[in-house]
Amino acid sequence: MNYQHILNALPSDLPVGKVVCVGRNYAEHARELNNPVPDEPLLFIKPSTAIQTMQTPIKLTPQRGGLHYEAEIAVLINQTLTHASEAEALAAISGVGLALDLTLRDLQSKLKDKGLPWEKAKAFDGSCCLSPFVPADTVDLTQLSLKLWINGELRQDGHTDQMLRSVAALVSHISEWFTLQPGDVVLTGTPAGVGELYAGDQLKLQLSDLIEASAEVVV
Ligand code: ZN
Repeated sequence: MNYQHILNALPSDLPVGKVVCVGRNYAEHARELNNPVPDEPLLFIKPSTAIQTMQTPIKLTPQRGGLHYEAEIAVLINQTLTHASEAEALAAISGVGLALDLTLRDLQSKLKDKGLPWEKAKAFDGSCCLSPFVPADTVDLTQLSLKLWINGELRQDGHTDQMLRSVAALVSHISEWFTLQPGDVVLTGTPAGVGELYAGDQLKLQLSDLIEASAEVVV
């Protein structure tokens, strides 16, 4: 399986890899969930089986509790990165796109309260919805805006200048812990405004003037 196969608009035949995500990379979002702003990036991983396109409807699972959206900027990696500098990290980013980091928030809260890992709340099948990517070579990754509307109402409105760590610094930091491989994706955190999804919700996302994507929620 490669990205052309699942997203059919990517400039890439890279294999579908893992997704490395960061929690609380926007201070305002950390505050809205009453979480402290971390000293270093809080990382977690979704397996390749979590990836689906935004064209695939988002299916609610009421028996698992509330499902929250987190709109994020995603970057696609096309080189192996281990202990990479920020410059090396930037050079290895071949695509930029939009992602929804879907989160079973009730389950995550329960697991957090018990001090248990969050995998079931964050890494389940379909938990990472991706838009088509555009080539990153002409994109300034420090000057991107990210917007999410639900049923026409603006819910998330972020900009890369609100990030605690830049995309390059984040990818460099990740490569200290987890080797990134061609086809891996990095999600760069969500701005404030996260919330629950309901059946029938129509989502529209925009990345600067580069990408527009939509998604819908079904039961
Ligand atoms: Zn997230």
